[in-house]
Amino acid sequence: MLTERLFARSARSSKKLNDTAPTRWHHGPWWSNSYLLTPLISILVFLVVMSLILWSLNRREQQQQEDTLYRNVAWAQQQIRLSMTGAQEQIQALARDIASGHGDPQSFQSSTGDIMQGHPEILYMNWYTAQHKPRWPNTPLPVLGSRLAKPTDAQMDDAVQAAFDEARTTRRQIYSPLLYDDLGNGYITLQTPVYRDREFLGSIAAVFSIEGILKHDIPGELSAKYKISITDLNNRELATTSSRPRLPRDMFYDLPLDPPGQGVSVRVYSYPQLTNFTNNTLVWLVAGLSCFVLWSLWSLWKHTRQRFEAQQALYAEAFFRRAMENSVLIGMRVLDMHGRITHVNPAFCRMTGWDESDLVGKVAPFPYWPKDAYPEMQRQLDMTLRGKAPSSGFELRVRRKDGSFFHARLYVSPLIDSSGRQTGWMSSMTDITEPRRAREDLAAAHERFTTVLESLDAAVSVLAADEAELLFANRYYRHLFGIRPDGHLELAGAGFDTAQASSDSIDMVDTYAGLPATALTESTSDAQEVYVEGIQKWFEVRRQYIQWVDGHLAQMQIATDITTRKQAQELADQQEEKLQFTSRLMTMGEMASSLAHELNQPLAAINNYCSGCVALVKSGRMTQDALLPVLEKTAQQAVRAGMIIKRIREFVKRSEPKRQPTRVADIVADAVGLAEIEARKRKIRILTEIRSRMPVIHVDPVLIEQVLVNLLKNAAEAMHDAKPNAADPVIRVIVQRVDGGFVCVSVVDQGPGVDEATAERLFEPFYSTKSDGMGMGLNICRSIIESHRGRLWVVNNIDASGNVTGATFHCSLPIGEADGPGNSGPEVLSHQPTQQTVTGEL
Ligand code: ADP
Repeated sequence: MLTERLFARSARSSKKLNDTAPTRWHHGPWWSNSYLLTPLISILVFLVVMSLILWSLNRREQQQQEDTLYRNVAWAQQQIRLSMTGAQEQIQALARDIASGHGDPQSFQSSTGDIMQGHPEILYMNWYTAQHKPRWPNTPLPVLGSRLAKPTDAQMDDAVQAAFDEARTTRRQIYSPLLYDDLGNGYITLQTPVYRDREFLGSIAAVFSIEGILKHDIPGELSAKYKISITDLNNRELATTSSRPRLPRDMFYDLPLDPPGQGVSVRVYSYPQLTNFTNNTLVWLVAGLSCFVLWSLWSLWKHTRQRFEAQQALYAEAFFRRAMENSVLIGMRVLDMHGRITHVNPAFCRMTGWDESDLVGKVAPFPYWPKDAYPEMQRQLDMTLRGKAPSSGFELRVRRKDGSFFHARLYVSPLIDSSGRQTGWMSSMTDITEPRRAREDLAAAHERFTTVLESLDAAVSVLAADEAELLFANRYYRHLFGIRPDGHLELAGAGFDTAQASSDSIDMVDTYAGLPATALTESTSDAQEVYVEGIQKWFEVRRQYIQWVDGHLAQMQIATDITTRKQAQELADQQEEKLQFTSRLMTMGEMASSLAHELNQPLAAINNYCSGCVALVKSGRMTQDALLPVLEKTAQQAVRAGMIIKRIREFVKRSEPKRQPTRVADIVADAVGLAEIEARKRKIRILTEIRSRMPVIHVDPVLIEQVLVNLLKNAAEAMHDAKPNAADPVIRVIVQRVDGGFVCVSVVDQGPGVDEATAERLFEPFYSTKSDGMGMGLNICRSIIESHRGRLWVVNNIDASGNVTGATFHCSLPIGEADGPGNSGPEVLSHQPTQQTVTGEL
């Protein structure tokens, strides 16, 4: 509740608070600590005052006790003195009676009996003559003090003699020094000298028991209240009224006793104060009240502290909210129940451009309403005030102070105070100009995108990976396959595995989600050519797994119709094949005369051998030994002719292009076999060098042979044209393995080489420097080698002095398995010699 009030108040005076408060209130106001200190100081002051009062009370009581003690000691001293003085006087009177001649045993006996009756502390009394002898030894004297300790007889004899001479000398009553018995009891003797005129008649000795003095001379009410002792000069207790041992906190007071003097003192101990009920009750009451007051002050301090902390927390909360309100980008407006603006936050002012003072306190129409939209705005306000505002908020146009407009969305919620009563309506406003524009842009982009997709000549489709459900299909796809997923599946072929896609869908999303969309259209992405039987069309299909808009895995497929391209390709392939075939025919045609000549030789030889045989048979000289060698030679010549024909036939045989595992040496041997027929005509030798163990390669042997024949024929022509009469012209064919898994066949001639201008155009179709040349040979050779994923290139041979000594045509072919199936990879022919030189004969 307090928070809200604070919040409301801070909202009203936000500016003031913003300027001053944070620094001032952050550590609390200066006086806020005194709230906490006051109860603490009060507690301390109260404790000090209470301690002082208790101390002074205690002090006064102690003083009183001391006074009382002193009075009582003085009283005890007084009593003892009175008693002793009384005894002294009585004995003095007896001495005077004796001196005046009234001394007879009976009267002495009765007098002493009286005295000792009045003073039970006197243990023994007798008259001793100047010779220290009892005056009447046979007269029994009264012995009292039966309840008092007594000295032994010897001690008693000593006691009665003590101070005798001093009394005689001074002629006055004299107390002897203290005497002690074995048990430590004290005794004192009073000597009263008896003089008749100047004649010393002896002295009356009266032995006083110190214990007796204490027992009989101290009033009972005093000894009941206090412990009273008589001490000697050495502070030794001679007698005491109570055997209670002395406690350290016992108070006592001493006064000297005179008579008898001799350092004897009376000492009064005060017993510890008996419980004073009233006093105690008061003390406890005060203590209780003090505790209560302390507790109250403590509670007050705690309460103050809690209040202070709560206050701090509230301030922090208020400023936190304030800061939050200031920093939010959402405009906030508060309406009271009658539609009057009571509060707007800084964001609202920033958005609208209107100041707080322009808005707070205003009723409809509000300044930010567009003038042309009053009825609509009024309708929205009425809905708000009736509590009928839609939960999705209102969309409205807002007029800024500068006259410009923006689109906003306004959400309304009731404002409830701390007592649960609605006090108004809180509205939050967001500027949706940007999101709106973004939405419109997005819609336009979407439309453009759809238009592009729809007008594509490729069939674009997206299929849910787990259910094979068509999620998207563009116009072209729909045109070809309708809205069924069959078309997608047919195009996908083995590229769509529902079971695998659904089980690995998460991994696949993870795997593919990061791929850029361009991966689909890049030439590097795997494109597959698919023939769809139903519509008799070829498609180039690219596919990718994507994360569909609902997060599920889907397969997107773009199928481009390549039927026309495919047909054109097939046509081109056929034409290429025809061209190659034609080219071979032409080569053969060019070599026809040489071939005829070559064939002519074995045929002529056969003819000769046959004629020889016939002549032998006719002559009748026919023997087996003569005939057999001739027939064998005939057969050899027939094989040679057959071989030539076989080679020609295989070279020009029209067959489907077919790759098969072939030994390089075989191809080279066949090519050299054909070419050297032509070369021989020009007296050129062909040397073959196979430099390493050759693997089997996967090629079409006829085509590769065609290439080699062409290169050898060109080499022979170039050499013959350049130097027709050269001595021992040689073409070398070098076969070797090179780095990168290739076999390289090099045809090295001794012709003029290739100049730079020619080198550039050498492989162009119809480029020829010969008058009868077609210029197609090298072009076809290159396309054949490249179709085998090999390379064909030319370099000039340079001798040590830098002269061109001919040209070398290199032709490389990959060793690895080519496109054809069923091949078992590179293989080394074990029977092939590592190096072999075949020399073609002229
Ligand atoms: P053609 O043999 O019908 O001219 P090619 O395509 O086989 O067609 O050869 C094209 C040209 O390349 C030849 O005309 C010739 O000028 C040049 N050429 C080919 N082989 C050699 C070679 N070994 N030495 C020099 N030039 C050559």
